[in-house]
This record gives sequence, structure tokens and C-alpha cells, in this order.
Amino acid sequence: MKKLALHWKILIGMVVGILFGLLMTTVDGGSTFVANWINPFGSIFVKLLKLIAVPLIIASLVKGISDLKDISKFKNIGLKTIGIYIFTTVIAITIGLLLVNVVKPGDGISEETITKLTETYANSGGVQAKIAEASKQKSSGPLQFLVDMVPDNAMKAMSNNKSMLQVIFFTIFLGISMLLIGEKRSKPLKDFFDSLNEVVLKMVDLIMLFAPIAVFALLSNVVVSSNDPDLLIALLKYAATVVGGLFLLVVFYMILVKVFTKKNPFWFLKQLSPAQLLAFSTSSSAATLPVTMERVEEHIGVDKEVSSFVLPVGATINMDGTSLYQAVAAVFIAQALGFDLTFVDQLTIIITALLASIGSAAVPGAGMVMLVIVLESVNFPADKLAIGLALIFAVDRPLDMCRTVINVTGDATVASLVAKSVGKLHDNPTPKNWDDHYDE
Ligand code: ASP
Repeated sequence: MKKLALHWKILIGMVVGILFGLLMTTVDGGSTFVANWINPFGSIFVKLLKLIAVPLIIASLVKGISDLKDISKFKNIGLKTIGIYIFTTVIAITIGLLLVNVVKPGDGISEETITKLTETYANSGGVQAKIAEASKQKSSGPLQFLVDMVPDNAMKAMSNNKSMLQVIFFTIFLGISMLLIGEKRSKPLKDFFDSLNEVVLKMVDLIMLFAPIAVFALLSNVVVSSNDPDLLIALLKYAATVVGGLFLLVVFYMILVKVFTKKNPFWFLKQLSPAQLLAFSTSSSAATLPVTMERVEEHIGVDKEVSSFVLPVGATINMDGTSLYQAVAAVFIAQALGFDLTFVDQLTIIITALLASIGSAAVPGAGMVMLVIVLESVNFPADKLAIGLALIFAVDRPLDMCRTVINVTGDATVASLVAKSVGKLHDNPTPKNWDDHYDE
């Protein structure tokens, strides 16, 4: 009998998780039961994925760079990657701005809803925490991100999941130095990392066996901890604008895949789907990264030389879904609170949302922190910030889930484009993992 494909198993886990969560909201003490007895399995899964992210990035990036045999190739891949990342992000923000200006979701929102949302969320821990976090990020100078990228202690960078760019910096430095001392002398280290890379991919494989149960746990918890359905309905137009924009962005990626890689875009999405489903369930592109790498390399056929650099960098700096959301949310808040945005303000949003999405961490809810910075760039009154965030807080989690899917899809698209441009996109990828227990 043909075994069920992994994406189906995950999808079933998600649907059953949502239904179970809905059922539990109707039972007395159901939410506490889910929080105490179900959610921990989701948390363990996310921790396992994060656990292997750093060893995977290091092993695969060292392998990728040392396989290049020539630094100029690396420079070529690096420049292309950054260029295409900026291009896709600007497109994402532009789509967001166009949609929000056409749909005007903020105009239709009633005073009553604004008051209710403000009373519920403006002084809540969630909103206040985002504002506090944003003011921490902002207090540094414009070049601070460059300073932050360079670790002063490699071990510390590796031990802290927040400094993915530092790990990437250290690993690139190591890989380039290995290239410079030549193949013969760096061979023992290269063999070590090659083998580590295989082992970590096996670990991804093992963790993924647990994915359907984990997404069940994660989604049932999202459902029991979600907000008042009335508020969700009041914000439907705003949420639909974000989701509509994200959908258009997927269409844009599909066009890019078709035109530049000549691969079937539906096939592309199907190969990537387990990573997308995990992105949706975990709301974290960092946690999804090991699976994204596995899918892109083994199933889409991007060579490790490209994916090992493009994907970890992308998970950290390329967040198209987040930047689109920031543009829509900023304009929505301005519309709802009667704050006029000039054309120059909208251009400012493009630039700050681009920088903000680079600066956003690849973890749940990070996009909303940087939204504060986007709002401040257009001189949004500081005393109204909490009210502004309160307006969108109720639907932030579901939108976070959707934008994380797009963040991951954007990274995979760019990886395929860059791979194609340097002749490193293979026609017949041969998946090594999962296939023991999973048929396409
Ligand atoms: N959760 C998103 C991610 O990990 C970031 C965000 O938009 O909040 O990609």
C-alpha cells in the first residue's frame, strides 16, 4: 500500500488540532487541559528543530563554501542573493501598500470597535512588551546591525539562538579560510563537517516523524488561546487585506519560479509544502529552517553550495511576508485613527519596512515589534502607539502564521533563482531522507 505523503500527515494533524481546540473551548477547563497536557508536545518539537538549526547551518555552510573551491564564486552567489532579497522585499511592500490604499480597511472600522480594542489591548502586557522591545532595538545607531553581526565569542554566538547572523558570519569566515589553506590541508575539517551535515539531516528526518502530532498540539493550543471571535470579525477586512497581499506574493513567486527556473510552480510548492505547513504551525522561520533546507536541497534540487548560504541568511534577513504585513498594518492603523499619510510617508514606509523586516527576528510576533519602528518613521504620535498596536493585536497570531509561510516560501524561491543562475539547480533531485517511510 502506498504510504501517506508527509504533507498529508501534517495537514491531517493540523485539521484535527484545530477541531480538537474548538471542541476544548466548549468544555469547562478545556483550555487549561490543552495548555498543560497537549501544548508541551508542540513546544518540544519546536525546541528540537531549533536545537539542530545551529549545527545544521554550520555544517552545511562549511560544506557549501568549501565545495565552491573558489572564493569569487561565493562572492557571486552572495551579491546575487542580497540583490534578489532586496528586490522581492520591495515588491512585497509595494503590493501591501497598493492593496491597503485601494481596499482602505481602516476607513470602515467603527469608533465602537476602536474603543473596545483599545480598552482590551492598549495596556495589555502583550502590546506594552512590543513597544518596550522596539525602543530597545531603536536606541542603537544606524550601523549597529553591522556591529551586531560580528561575534566576539563564537561559542556564545552559537549558544544563543538570537544571533543567527553571528553564527553565519563566523561560519563564512571559517569556510573562506578553509578554501584559502587549500583542499589538502583542510580535508580533515571538511570531512568532519560533511559527516556532521549528514547526521544532522538524519536528525531532521527523525524529528519530522513527530511532526503530525506536534502540529496537532501547536494548533489546538493556538485555537484555545485565541481571542474573542467578535473582535476577529471586526478586523476581518484588515486581515483579508494582509492575506490577499500574501496570496498575490505567492503568485509573484510562482511567476518567478516558472520564468527563471523553468520548473513547474505547483510542483515547487508541493515539494516545499511540509516546510510551509510547519511555518504556519510554529510561526517561526528559524524553527522551520532545518526543514526548509532539507526540502529545498533534497526535493527541489538546489545544490548545497547555494542553499546552505541563501536559506539561513534568508531566514534571518528576508521576510517578505513580514514586510508586506508591516506596510498594510501601518497604513491600516493610520486610516483607522484618522492620521493622514502623505506620498512621502508611504515611500518612507517602503524603506523602513525593508530595514525593519531585515531586523525582525525569525520568531513568533517579531514583525509587530518592528512595526513600531515603521510607525515612528512616519511620525506617528508616540502616545497613540499603544492604541495603534491594540487595533491589530487580536488578529496578530493568525496573520503571523500566514506571513511566516510566505517568509519561508520567499527564501526557497530566491534559493532556486540563485541556484539556476549559477547552474546549480538540479533537474532530478534525489531525496536521501524521509523516503524510507514516505513516498512522494
Ligand atoms: N514570525 C515571523 C517569522 O518567523 C516573523 C514575524 O513576522 O513576526 O518569519
